Amino acid sequence: MKNSALYIKEPLLFEKHKEGREGLKIIDCEVPEKPISDYIDNKLLRDKINGMPELSEVDIVRHFYRLSIMNYNIEKGMYPLGSCTMKYNPKINEQIALMPDFLFTHPYQPESTVQGNLKLLYTIKDSLCKIFNMDDFTLQPAAGAHGELTGIMLIRAYLEDKGNPRKTILIPDSAHGTNPASATLCGYKVKEIKSASDGCIDLANLESIMNEDVAALMLTNPNTLGLFEKNIIKVSEIVHSKGGQIYCDGANMNALIGIANIGLMGIDVLHLNLHKTFSTPHGGGGPGSGPVGIKKHLIPYLPVPTIEKDGNYYYFNYSKDKSIGKIKAFYGNFAIIIRALAYILAMGSKGLKNIAINAVANANYIKSKLKDYYYLPYDLPVMHEVIFSDKYQHKTNVTTLDIAKRLIDYGLHPSTIYFPLIVSGAIMIEPTETESIEELDRFINAMISIAEEAKNNPDIVKSAPHTTPVGRLNETEAARKPILRWT
Ligand SMILES: *Cc1c(COP(=O)(O)O)cnc(C)c1O
Repeated sequence: MKNSALYIKEPLLFEKHKEGREGLKIIDCEVPEKPISDYIDNKLLRDKINGMPELSEVDIVRHFYRLSIMNYNIEKGMYPLGSCTMKYNPKINEQIALMPDFLFTHPYQPESTVQGNLKLLYTIKDSLCKIFNMDDFTLQPAAGAHGELTGIMLIRAYLEDKGNPRKTILIPDSAHGTNPASATLCGYKVKEIKSASDGCIDLANLESIMNEDVAALMLTNPNTLGLFEKNIIKVSEIVHSKGGQIYCDGANMNALIGIANIGLMGIDVLHLNLHKTFSTPHGGGGPGSGPVGIKKHLIPYLPVPTIEKDGNYYYFNYSKDKSIGKIKAFYGNFAIIIRALAYILAMGSKGLKNIAINAVANANYIKSKLKDYYYLPYDLPVMHEVIFSDKYQHKTNVTTLDIAKRLIDYGLHPSTIYFPLIVSGAIMIEPTETESIEELDRFINAMISIAEEAKNNPDIVKSAPHTTPVGRLNETEAARKPILRWT
């Protein structure tokens, strides 16, 4: 649109092919050479790969560079994705994770030669216990969902040990999809509990379905509506009174860190996503880390090895007879853990608290600036994210998907859409603590312009994006039947 002069339509390499063009020219050999058939049997040799594009080095380099700048990234602008914390992370933590002493450690090196690594693991475990007021942490799980699985396995082992693993896990209707998946993988039935009109767990509903078949309640706090579960103490009392456990999905802790005391809320198990809250970029399916924090009664069941210390000597402890076993090889995703500890130490307790203050202020700023333009299903103070819907845009048939696509034309990544499922046409926005007021305003102004367009010129929104190499894809077919081959 505005910068179309910079946009080059880039053909495929096959389309750019020019007979005889070469990437690398090597001069003919000036000394007598043995023919290649002296080394490789002639019938295995071919002189041409059919259909292989012939291109110069500059053709190829420009091709891939042009493709790379079609992409969006956190260095380019904010990612307003809710329930996913996509924030900018300090580059220094990348440098620290790349320090040769960490990088070249062999996982099988004897304990005595990796005392520094073990001390690092011990230190972060200890820091996380203090920050969230839990009694211990395992650092093995490789992601949030893996942490959930580990946490539910711990609960199962604990209940089994007490005589009955029970049958059901309660999960609020606003939960992240990984929650029911983890519970099911552990052999539990999932029972959904309703949210009350204030977006929090309906206490009466919980009381009526809580019984001695229920192993645990899995909740998310702040929940996926961006709201603090304000009855958390009451909720945990109801569940504990019938012998159940409280599992907290802490994938997005940037709203509470340094401020809320998780350990005092009656939570027995808490997983964190280091790759959301603690300085590893989230997304792209890259490596993550989902440490699980627990209260004392669950310590005997932790995955082996645990990291322990005897005086100043750090070691792996494999001898825990009630352990659920090993759930990830070696140290867990060690490089992610390094970044997280570097981040925690650089922040200090004051810095950690500022993360929460900024995350919450930014989300509430967006909420107050956009509430006249987009419908707010829950008009309450939010934590780190805010949920609107497309209800005001229904008059001109503009939908959440159209709004998301139009954001691309404004040079922004779309927000999360159609989640949580309990809000029809949900537009879920998390600005994160790392965005400046200028970037927030850029996003807000784009959203306001789109709301105006939806009123006065709905077609431009409905046919967006207009500035990308390809326009609207068939959302289902593009994922299920991708065309990956040029013919
Ligand atoms: C991201 C997220 C998860 C899953 O984490 P992964 O690392 O992607 O497996 C679980 N719950 C919530 C609320 C999340 O935002």
